[in-house]
Amino acid sequence: LVEMTNVDKFYGDFQALKNINLHVSRGEVVVVIGPSGSGKSTLCRTINRLETISAGSITIDGQQLPEEGSGLARLRSDVGMVFQAFNLFAHLTILENVTLGPLKVRGLKKAAADELAMQLLARVGVEHQAQKYPAQLSGGQQQRVAIARSLAMKPKLMLFDEPTSALDPEMINEVLDTMVELAEEGMTMVVVTHEMGFARKAAHRVVFMADGEIVEVAEPEEFFTNPQSDRAQDFLSKLL
Ligand code: ATP
Ligand code: MG
Repeated sequence: LVEMTNVDKFYGDFQALKNINLHVSRGEVVVVIGPSGSGKSTLCRTINRLETISAGSITIDGQQLPEEGSGLARLRSDVGMVFQAFNLFAHLTILENVTLGPLKVRGLKKAAADELAMQLLARVGVEHQAQKYPAQLSGGQQQRVAIARSLAMKPKLMLFDEPTSALDPEMINEVLDTMVELAEEGMTMVVVTHEMGFARKAAHRVVFMADGEIVEVAEPEEFFTNPQSDRAQDFLSKLL
């Protein structure tokens, strides 16, 4: 579903991604881990074209990433993204946050958009909050709304960039549980996270990055018990 071939990314003189080759199959869950500054967020952001790439190519579902225009809008609706910060619209209710995309981009009628949104809010367990505003919800609830909002666009792929790292500990699991369910339903996911429990439970592959490179790719059990590279061994020893 996603094919990154020889991708380089420069910020000025600084090379943030170095010859990235990554294939993500339909239904696959890939967890990306690595030290701060290793390029994990940059990798995610190039996949939905929030960042341009300097060299190489990225295709999604066989299509080259569009530079601009209507192709880019379609790409953005095919690729959902959930960030560390919740990014809900503060002046809209929870329901309005979720129906906005389907109404404006997918062209649904209000009744259909409301029905879809309520189904998705129920699926992530926040249907009783539909008429509230984001500030009235806990961080974990807000992040689950952010997931529902992405799902409302019926994405082919979901990108998560440290979705639980801004949450209080007791709220982390409710968000991870939602993500595990999504994975079990067959959603294709690229997840940047340091939550090893999630990686063990849901990931098909772990991608370890350091200094802008993919250093190691392995199944989670293999990666955590028997990391091959010095960088990965060092990283894991500091994590535990
Ligand atoms: P973290 O775990 O801290 O989130 P990360 O692995 O997500 O780190 P990135 O945010 O992808 O790392 O950044 C990779 C490198 O690129 C870092 O050295 C960062 O300083 C640099 N970088 C990121 N965004 C920009 C930018 N807009 N302009 C210049 N340099 C940038
Ligand atoms: Mg990051």
